[in-house]
Amino acid sequence: MSDETSYQAQRNRMVEDQLISRGIDDEHVLAAMRTVPRHRFVPPEQRHMSYADCPLPIGHGQTISQPYIVALMTELLELMGGEKVLEVGTGSGYQAAVLAQLAGEVHTIERHAPLAEAARLALTAIGVTNVSCHIGDGSSGLPEQAPFQAIIVTAAAPRVPQPLLDQLNRHGRLVLPVGGIGGQVLELWVRRDEKFDREAIIPVAFVPLRGHLGWSEHSENPDEW
Ligand code: SAM
Repeated sequence: MSDETSYQAQRNRMVEDQLISRGIDDEHVLAAMRTVPRHRFVPPEQRHMSYADCPLPIGHGQTISQPYIVALMTELLELMGGEKVLEVGTGSGYQAAVLAQLAGEVHTIERHAPLAEAARLALTAIGVTNVSCHIGDGSSGLPEQAPFQAIIVTAAAPRVPQPLLDQLNRHGRLVLPVGGIGGQVLELWVRRDEKFDREAIIPVAFVPLRGHLGWSEHSENPDEW
């Protein structure tokens, strides 16, 4: 069996055993998870674990999220195709590649320049052309590209940053982990014109969102709050 055939078989198994079995049922999301080569976003020393049911280290103390969490957060965005989406926390670029399958235009922002550069290379190498990688603090979103139909934050915020809500369009959806450094709740915020509905989804454990509206660099105290 070629490497690519073996990776495809691992992806198909990942979708069955980790996603469908846990209730992910959006066919577009499942198709994207079957398509995107997760192993191309994982460092060589971790590659044999690419399709395992867990997050993996990607350097700089950061992680690529567990496949189930990637699929769940993507499903919650309810993308229909054509949307403009913001991801805060590019990391490896894998989540951005999944979003790129389902949306029109993806902007992703990462505070660690080497991770952002590696993600950009990995996305280009697999032929993704609708993702723009930005370097910087995304805790206040990306106002110059707003509004967005959907925003996904893949690092844990002490509370929902107001600028992210402000950067949603009229019926936009925001998914993010909110809570302490040790554990959070995945929250879904849906804009209904000037109002927002909030729903708590499941407990999660993400690395911290750092920066202006996140946690301060070396402490567990949120900056600016
Ligand atoms: N979505 C990523 C993937 O598919 O590999 C996983 C992201 S990892 C769990 C969280 C990322 O958020 C880290 O790479 C971290 O450096 C980044 N991050 C944390 N605070 C940030 C901020 N204020 N702005 C941008 N990126 C941030």
